[in-house]
Amino acid sequence: MAETIGSTEKIVNLFSSFIMELNNVHSTEEVFSALIRIMRKTVNVNWMAILDAERKPIKIYPNSSELNIGRFSELIEWALDNKTHSFYPVGEEIVGFLPMIKGGDVLGIILIGLSQEPRVEEIDALRVFSFLSSTVSENVRLLEEVVEKNRLVEETMKYLHSILDTFPEMVIVVSQEGEIVYMNRRFVEEGDVEGLKDEALKIARQVIETKVRRVGEYEKEGQYYSIVAEPLQYQNTYQAVTTIMNVTSTKELERLKQLDRMKTEFVANISHELRTPLAAIKAYSETVLDSLKELDENTLKDFMETIYRESMHLENLLDELLDFSRMERKALKLERRDVDLVEVVKDAVDSMREYAKSNGVKLEVVLPEGSLKANVDPSRMRQVLLNLISNGIKYSKKDEGESYVKVVLKDEGEKVQIIVEDNGIGIPEDKLDKIFEKFYRVDSSLTYEISGTGLGLAIVKEIVELHGGRIWVESEEGKGSKFYVEIPLKVE
Ligand code: ADP
Repeated sequence: MAETIGSTEKIVNLFSSFIMELNNVHSTEEVFSALIRIMRKTVNVNWMAILDAERKPIKIYPNSSELNIGRFSELIEWALDNKTHSFYPVGEEIVGFLPMIKGGDVLGIILIGLSQEPRVEEIDALRVFSFLSSTVSENVRLLEEVVEKNRLVEETMKYLHSILDTFPEMVIVVSQEGEIVYMNRRFVEEGDVEGLKDEALKIARQVIETKVRRVGEYEKEGQYYSIVAEPLQYQNTYQAVTTIMNVTSTKELERLKQLDRMKTEFVANISHELRTPLAAIKAYSETVLDSLKELDENTLKDFMETIYRESMHLENLLDELLDFSRMERKALKLERRDVDLVEVVKDAVDSMREYAKSNGVKLEVVLPEGSLKANVDPSRMRQVLLNLISNGIKYSKKDEGESYVKVVLKDEGEKVQIIVEDNGIGIPEDKLDKIFEKFYRVDSSLTYEISGTGLGLAIVKEIVELHGGRIWVESEEGKGSKFYVEIPLKVE
């Protein structure tokens, strides 16, 4: 068939086979097989070989043929040097050398074995064929390069991802549009915490807007997370690389360490607290013993009163310690009775009058008219009042205007409210939630001299909560404090 058709027709045929065949190829291997098939449709070849730029065979037809390419090396080099198509008789055959050249570069060479000299139109077709083959072969090379590059990029990505997956932190990347464009494995596994993603996104969006690093914290059901977002410039946009870490155990450790520190301080403190009244009792009783005969009745009375006061103080301290120990063992129990709270408050205030007076503090009380019946533990309620009032006196401003402590009892229908207000040294804002913790004492030049264990308010809070109530404080440093106690009248 090849002999019967004209040159133009052959070339048109060649083009159409080229396009059809190459449309269906998917790999380099298939490209060269297709080239051979097209060639065979155009010219009757006995054999055929496609060599690359290094003269290595890429494809040989027929597959099984054992071609000795080496014997053509000189002719191959000559054809490539001259960049021309040439045909030589070799034995019984005519061998054609068709260089594949693109932009002056040698891409390879096609060798064909023919039974007879090719005709002019066949040579034309072969020339077009080698030109098309050069283009294809160049494209194949480029494609292979791109594929290799893509493979490298993909491998690098995989490598980076696996590094990010080993991080103990959760990592997400947020795009300029505020969307998550990357999340590491830990975030996928542990990031499903209600509200956490929204908080991280909020911080990330602020970082994208301000282009400044930001740090935040999030808490959910006792779990603490730290969130750090860093701006990252990427292809003319800003993204935020956001790391999220569960820091609950670190927080817990910090809390335990602080508790440990406070306990050590407490031991030192309590020894001092116990020693002071004990030293006074010892000194006064020694004086009484040594000089009993010389002391007049008034001095003796004064001494004995001091001894009594100091032993009461000792007793209070020991009671506080015992209560604390009960509280820790969950053994602090209430003995509820129906009592009149007006009486309980009156009684507590009265027993603090002497202490208030000796500290120059005016003690006021505002009570509702009549009685206020409640089912409470009266001695524990008295303890709450004594503690709050004595704190009000203890933390009053010394030598500065008129100090007062005001106790108010309010009937609020379903509940009662007790307010203990003072115009003392006050509590710094950042310490307000700490003062109810065990061992906690505000550490300042104003409180330095004032004795205390740091247990009083912890016990008070426990008692109030055992009654089903709550306690809170409003305070301004340097102005005074207002403690609120709320107790429900109905027992749950
Ligand atoms: P303390 O034995 O130290 O008085 P508390 O538990 O009663 O222990 O109180 C804890 C801390 O709270 C105190 O050390 C003090 O710093 C602060 N505080 C309590 N009551 C008052 C108050 N009325 N005015 C100012 N500070 C107070």
